[in-house]
Amino acid sequence: MKFYSTGHNTNLVSFAEAIMSGRAADGGLYMPQLTRLPGAFFNNLPDMTLQDIAYVIMQMLVKDDMTSEAIKNMVDDALDFEIPLVYVENNIYSLEMFHGPTLAFKDVGARFLSRLLTHFCHADEKNPISVLVATTGDAGSAIAGIFYNIPGINVFIVYPHGRVSREQEAQFATLRGNIYPIEVDGSFDDCQTMVNGVFSNRDFCRQMRLTSANTINPARLLPQVIPFIWGVSQLRRQSMRRCDNIYVSVPSGNLGNLCAALIAKRIGLPVNKFIAANNLNGVFTDFLNSGQYIERNACPTLATAMDVGKPSNISRIIELYRDNYGRIDMDKLRKEVIAVSVSDDKIIDSIKYNFEHNNYLLEPHGAVAEVALKEKMPNDAIGFFMATAHPAKFGSSVRQAINRELPSKYDVLKPAISHKFTYRIPPTVSALHHKLSVISNR
Ligand SMILES: *Cc1c(COP(=O)(O)O)cnc(C)c1O
Repeated sequence: MKFYSTGHNTNLVSFAEAIMSGRAADGGLYMPQLTRLPGAFFNNLPDMTLQDIAYVIMQMLVKDDMTSEAIKNMVDDALDFEIPLVYVENNIYSLEMFHGPTLAFKDVGARFLSRLLTHFCHADEKNPISVLVATTGDAGSAIAGIFYNIPGINVFIVYPHGRVSREQEAQFATLRGNIYPIEVDGSFDDCQTMVNGVFSNRDFCRQMRLTSANTINPARLLPQVIPFIWGVSQLRRQSMRRCDNIYVSVPSGNLGNLCAALIAKRIGLPVNKFIAANNLNGVFTDFLNSGQYIERNACPTLATAMDVGKPSNISRIIELYRDNYGRIDMDKLRKEVIAVSVSDDKIIDSIKYNFEHNNYLLEPHGAVAEVALKEKMPNDAIGFFMATAHPAKFGSSVRQAINRELPSKYDVLKPAISHKFTYRIPPTVSALHHKLSVISNR
């Protein structure tokens, strides 16, 4: 499959090329040239395993650049954990994305990204590559967990000071070795702007062999298509229905996951409506309502991983809905996507309600998606929301909601051991640039 830039000002590139450059040379983001998969694939979903589905998707993306056997090995290796669909109430299910090694949905994209990078980039100690990621918490954990102590790879994690959970920080900021956490006195949007600034310096990136582990990298974004297809297959199997009217609710911040969902639809996944579930940083909700995309400064909420005011994947979503004149077709977008902004009070109520009435424990991000689904799904529809993180990763919010300690079966995180070890910098591109140079020249 070939990739083009949303800037429409570069040549088509292969997957291998697209994953090594953070952004395209024209400043745009890489998009795959999508075509629909055969209807038979979607009809057969209930008989397929997660790995079968993943194989079809990865084959579609990288068959020009990788052998079938290598693709098969990558899939089996990357997805060695479960993604269960769990019944919650009425016609509502939860797709639990948090059973990977770092307990959040970012494990899916990150584990494919790492395998694709090592396959295509030939890193070793003499010729190392550098992986740069701006994170609201979970991506940092997932990337650090995979690359920790892998020779030839240095990982730089840029994150907003005081805006990630204690548990998340313990997962990526206490490791040392080849993992360099850089704490920024600013917001996640500042972090992302700084990282983008570094990527626009192409000589520096080439020199450092710098690549992105954010969803601007298609190697992380596109595997996220897989769980949506899997979720639909499980929904059909468990409900023993054809499921003609499916709603899927996606906790959304930087819009990578929503973009993956809409790509799944574009290649033929029969979902009637996707719900973009925002916290009060409702940039996307406002965009759908008004037709105007206006960035803003994010405010802190309980769903911290979605405190994003300048979501990077908006340009890809706009690209997916361009009409023949190159304008965005808002009617089509509104037909396929509904957006809702959910307040902290509703998050707390949802966690409490589901714990008490359904014996089901959510954390704030899954709760945002649950509230949005319940608000928007009609009675005759069936659907699932994505539970993107394990409740243990957001212990303090969950305790606040249920007004007690988490039941012992949720005790899955090792206690936050040892000191964190971070670099702290002001929120400017030049500060990040400088820090990266200093660390890598040691
Ligand atoms: C990253 C994250 C999200 C938001 O996903 P985007 O792709 O950034 O929209 C939601 N929930 C959790 C727990 C996350 O870590």
